[in-house]
Amino acid sequence: MHQKLPKEIDPFRLAQNGLLLEGKLPLARMARLTKSLQNTDGMVNVKMAFDIDEVGTPYMRGEFNTSVSVICERCMKIMVLELNVDCSLAMVISERKIEGLAEQYDPWIIENNDPVLLSAVIEDELILSLPLVPRHAEACLPKEAWSVGDDEVELKDIDKPVSPFAVLSGLKIKQ
Ligand SMILES: [Zn+2]
Repeated sequence: MHQKLPKEIDPFRLAQNGLLLEGKLPLARMARLTKSLQNTDGMVNVKMAFDIDEVGTPYMRGEFNTSVSVICERCMKIMVLELNVDCSLAMVISERKIEGLAEQYDPWIIENNDPVLLSAVIEDELILSLPLVPRHAEACLPKEAWSVGDDEVELKDIDKPVSPFAVLSGLKIKQ
């Protein structure tokens, strides 16, 4: 069976019914994710297959694909990152149940019967897939910029979230 993306879901029921959800969600609806991005443009392509495996574990196999704009921490210019998430989440009703899970799963803790906001699950997985320090795959700075103190700069940058203000001040210095 196949249906469009609902706003809220009951994951256990979807698993019992073996449903497939497919559709698109705007990035703009994911505020926790977009605060690390340069803009909120774009859509996430979503595929979620709900089922119960042979040992009775309800799970969701998800594929989420999108492109996001972030700042390269090396050259401080905007770069487009492809995020391609492929996840298998097993639904568990409490953290204590995580230990028994088969290796192929990450836990998806659902502690009560309230409907689950669909975009939140997708958003969590996309946030996890963001690189800690986004950088162009290619050497994006001219060679001479590499000679001094590059290691120190990288260490300092690791825990720092990408802030639009930091980017703005970076631009000002350059001008
Ligand atoms: Zn770069």
